[in-house]
Amino acid sequence: MTLFYRRMPKFDYVRPGSVAEALAALSPDAPVRNQVFSGGTDLIPKLKSRAIKAPPRVIDLKGIAGLAYIDFKPGEGLRLGANTTIREVAQSSSVLTHYPALATGAGLIASNQLQHRGTIVGNICNAVPSADSAPPLLAHDAQVVCVSADGERIVSIADFFVAPGVTALAAGEIVKEIRLPPPPSGERSVYLKLASRGRMDLAVVGVAVTVVVGNGVFQQVRIGLGSAAPIPVRATQAEMALKGQRVSAELIAQAAAIAAANTRTRSSHRASAEYRREMIEVLVRRTLTQATQTPPSQS
Ligand SMILES: Cc1cc2nc3c(=O)[nH]c(=O)nc-3n(C[C@H](O)[C@H](O)[C@H](O)COP(=O)(O)OP(=O)(O)OC[C@H]3O[C@@H](n4cnc5c(N)ncnc54)[C@H](O)[C@@H]3O)c2cc1C
Repeated sequence: MTLFYRRMPKFDYVRPGSVAEALAALSPDAPVRNQVFSGGTDLIPKLKSRAIKAPPRVIDLKGIAGLAYIDFKPGEGLRLGANTTIREVAQSSSVLTHYPALATGAGLIASNQLQHRGTIVGNICNAVPSADSAPPLLAHDAQVVCVSADGERIVSIADFFVAPGVTALAAGEIVKEIRLPPPPSGERSVYLKLASRGRMDLAVVGVAVTVVVGNGVFQQVRIGLGSAAPIPVRATQAEMALKGQRVSAELIAQAAAIAAANTRTRSSHRASAEYRREMIEVLVRRTLTQATQTPPSQS
């Protein structure tokens, strides 16, 4: 049983004022996971309940000035700093206008209180399959900017999730920002989340799509699946079945079946692998149908 009234375990608390100070405080040999936090909405309950062993030193990134920003430039795209809160992303006019699936995904994470504290970067670094920001970030083809004492490197969001609870971050490396490319002209995007108890519950399955339709044909399609497989994934076979083909209800239904058949679905206490496969088909069909019928975002 989880006992939330337990005291925090003992660790050294460090609150650096810059990224360089944070990197210097990291233990170079251990994984970065759980050594740093931003909102703390994942890390602090785990430390309190002893779900994880406390590291000797915990580094609070929230005090680093200049890491909370949402910066959109036409032709360059969107940059989200590591301390940008979920709420800021959900309500940002730039995100709502140019990356609607991401705004929807952020707005469906937990409660208002949690959204004001937690961050999108914390959501992906936690690396659970049900992270609601992951399918939209996959569909929007995001990149993760990782920084270490050796400099910066960019990891595609599709390569960032390695295994449940494991990311592509190396020892001594933290995430500095997430970048989204400028949306192509006429792009439409949708995120749908299936959860038993609505917003306060984790997704059974979440699906995000981005599509560009020209002359009645799918010019570009990306499909991100959350909570479906052990890590958030793209439904690449379904994307290939759609690209270059004329938009129709039959084609969308075929692609949805391909997405379901080609996903290595997981079982959990929320749903069986079989149920998840059924729901992937339903949600991929619905997101694609909705995306092909809604007006494009302004780019
Ligand atoms: C009641 C409740 C309901 C929830 N419901 C949902 C939900 O519906 N959907 C959903 O997606 N999530 C949900 N969550 C999970 C959670 O709120 C999110 O994962 C949140 O986005 C985490 O952000 P944070 O800044 O608080 O992360 P933190 O707790 O600060 O960190 C999370 C992890 O990321 C690492 N980390 C954080 N920042 C960095 C960085 N810059 N570089 C490297 N590593 C880093 C930490 O070491 C830690 O391992 C829920 C949580 C609770 C408690």
